[in-house]
Amino acid sequence: MKKIPIGISSCLLGQNVRYDGGHKRDSYITGTLSEYFDFQPFCPEVGIGLGTPRPTIHLVKIEQAVHCVGIKDPDIDVTERLRSHAEQQKQLHADLCGYILKKGSPSCGMERVKIFSGVQHNKDGVGIYAEEMMRLNPLLPVEEEGRLGDAGLRENFIQRIYVLHRWKTLLAEGLTGHSLTHFHARHKLIIMSHEDYRELGQLLAGLTKASLEQVAGEYILQLMTTLRKPATRKSHVNVLQHIQGYLKKDLSTDNKVELCEIIERYRNGYVPLIVPLTLLKHHFRKSPDPYIEDSYYMNPYPQELRLINQL
Ligand code: SF4
Repeated sequence: MKKIPIGISSCLLGQNVRYDGGHKRDSYITGTLSEYFDFQPFCPEVGIGLGTPRPTIHLVKIEQAVHCVGIKDPDIDVTERLRSHAEQQKQLHADLCGYILKKGSPSCGMERVKIFSGVQHNKDGVGIYAEEMMRLNPLLPVEEEGRLGDAGLRENFIQRIYVLHRWKTLLAEGLTGHSLTHFHARHKLIIMSHEDYRELGQLLAGLTKASLEQVAGEYILQLMTTLRKPATRKSHVNVLQHIQGYLKKDLSTDNKVELCEIIERYRNGYVPLIVPLTLLKHHFRKSPDPYIEDSYYMNPYPQELRLINQL
C-alpha cells in the first residue's frame, strides 16, 4: 500500500535544522511510523531564512498580542513571516493526512509553549507557524512527538490519519450520495466509540444532489472534530456490546458467557482491547455479517502498528 503523506517538523527526522545546528530525531517516528507514512519535512524557521545555526527566538506578550521575537535582540520580530510562511505552504499541506509537530517550539509547538511577559512566563502558547497551519487546515490531525508516547493519544492520532486518508481517497474516486452514506456506514462504529453517531447521520438525512458538496464539507469537518476526543474504555465497551448483538442468534450459551466475561475483563482493565476484538473476529469468521465485516472499527489501520494492543 502507498505510504500516507504526513507533514513533520524537520528536526524530528534527524535533520540538522535546530537553532544550535542539531536535531531531535525521534526513533519511533523514523522507525515504526516511517514504514506506513511518507514524512514530508517542514522547518519554518529555516523556511523564512533564519539559517542554521541562528539566534534563539521565543514568544512574548506585547500589548495583549503574542509575538515571536529574538531572545537577545527583541527587535527581531518574525511573527508575520512565520504566519505568511504557513499561508504560502497551504497548497503543500492540502495533500497531507496528518502532521507531527515538535513540542515546545515558538514556531512549531502545538500547545503549552512558553509565553514570556517580562521575567514571568506561562505555558498557554502555540507556536506561530503551527497555529496558522492548524487554522488553515481544520481537518488535519495534528499531534506532538512527545504526546505520541501516550497509547491513547497515539492511537487516536493514527486513527484520525487513516480516516482522513480514506476520505481523500473517496473524493479522488468521485463523491456521490451513495459513496458518502457508505463511508458513514463503514465508520459508524468508530464514531460510536467517540460519541453518538446519530447526530452525524442526521446531517446526511436530507442529502440531495444539489446539497452534496455542502453536506460533505460539513460532515467531514464534524467527523474530524468529533474524533479529536479520544475514545474511552467505557465507550469501547458500548461498541463491543453492540457488535456482540449481531451474534446473538449464532453463539452457544458457553460462547456467549465467554464473550461477556472477556468484555468485562476489558472494562475492568485486565486485558487490552485487542483481546475482545480478536474473539469477536473469531466468531464472525464462523458467522459472517456484512455490516460488521465492512466496518472499519474491526480493522481501522494495519495491525502491525500494534495500537490496540496497548489500549
Ligand atoms: S522545531 Fe520547527 S522550527 Fe524548530 S528546528 Fe524543528 S522544525 Fe525547525
